[in-house]
Amino acid sequence: QQKLLLAQLHQAQKMESLGALAGGVAHDMNNVLGAILGLASAHIKDQPPGSKVQKAFGTIIKAAERGGNMLKGLLSFARQSSAEERDLDLNTILREEVRLLERTTLSKVRLSMDLDPGLWLVRADAGALTHAFMNLCVNAVDAMPENGTLTLRTRNRDRDWVEVQVEDTGTGMPPEVLARALDPFFTTKEVGKGTGLGLSIVYSTVKAQKGKLELESEPGRGTCVTMHFPAIQGASAPIEASGAYETMPWLGSLNVLLVDDDELIRSSMQGMLEALDHQTTLATSGEEALAKVEAGLRPDVIILDMNMPGLGGAGTLPRLRALLPKVPVLLSTGRADQAAQNLIKNHPFVTLLSKPFGLDELQAHLDPFIG
Ligand code: ADP
Ligand code: MG
Repeated sequence: QQKLLLAQLHQAQKMESLGALAGGVAHDMNNVLGAILGLASAHIKDQPPGSKVQKAFGTIIKAAERGGNMLKGLLSFARQSSAEERDLDLNTILREEVRLLERTTLSKVRLSMDLDPGLWLVRADAGALTHAFMNLCVNAVDAMPENGTLTLRTRNRDRDWVEVQVEDTGTGMPPEVLARALDPFFTTKEVGKGTGLGLSIVYSTVKAQKGKLELESEPGRGTCVTMHFPAIQGASAPIEASGAYETMPWLGSLNVLLVDDDELIRSSMQGMLEALDHQTTLATSGEEALAKVEAGLRPDVIILDMNMPGLGGAGTLPRLRALLPKVPVLLSTGRADQAAQNLIKNHPFVTLLSKPFGLDELQAHLDPFIG
């Protein structure tokens, strides 16, 4: 019987400096991608279906969306996206996960669910945990190209820990891969398949929840990832996920006040708003927007960038609210961090518009305000 290989995890510092770097890069990249996505999705509609230009715009949109997804991964790795802590039943999270993966990824493998029915709750961010478990399931399935079994297991441990295991019977990892598996950007997968961020996201998520992570792997036999989370003493009760966004049919045109310091974003968003038949007034700062409203401008909707010099989104919003108590505000930002969450919580009629977004997403956010 071969000995199990264990990964030792002492890389908090490496992760932190990379995290800060990733967060900064992601913010600027969001604006660049937003401009590309915005203009391409605004103009694709004018092209004859099947034409070269229409196809090219389609490819540009897909590429920008792929970039946007990578940024989301980077941001959650950097832990700069929102953390909403709630009391969670990890069994529920795993069951929802399986439902999400079932029709696509999981069809190739046998799935075994071994969930402790009396599992204690943990206080954690459901989105981050879902993302982390998802990364582990994807890795497990990737490691079983022929067939195999994926086991998801939960247990109560030692009075105050909840244990989650994701185990596969796949290829396993040789020691040199196991030693680097948690490193950001380390991947053995071909270009386009792996980003090397999966396990580093898992690591930073578990660390952020004050949990523990252990990797065990044996080449040719499989891999088991064990996570321990601090339990909340008490009963187990599932928590409901938040409801879906509902959109309404197109009814007319809006006067939109668009506040963003980035020229690229202003011109691409204006293009999108025109494509949706809305009128746009531009402001390059919160100060300029306030001056326009004080001078009598009455927009139907305000799109307000969060990160701007001067007052910025956070400084502008309360002043705008004082002048226009009921006008809906879309707070546009690449990172839904705590500052953004607080603004939304503390002001009525404010919703989040996550950068980068395309035409359809913008329309979905604006349609509820028409008519
Ligand atoms: P990616 O999946 O994008 O390559 P990860 O950080 O998720 O990035 O994983 C890093 C590497 O660790 C993978 O490329 C793979 O070599 C190895 N690995 C991770 N999980 C498993 C697993 N369950 N079985 C075998 N190898 C794995
Ligand atoms: Mg992965």
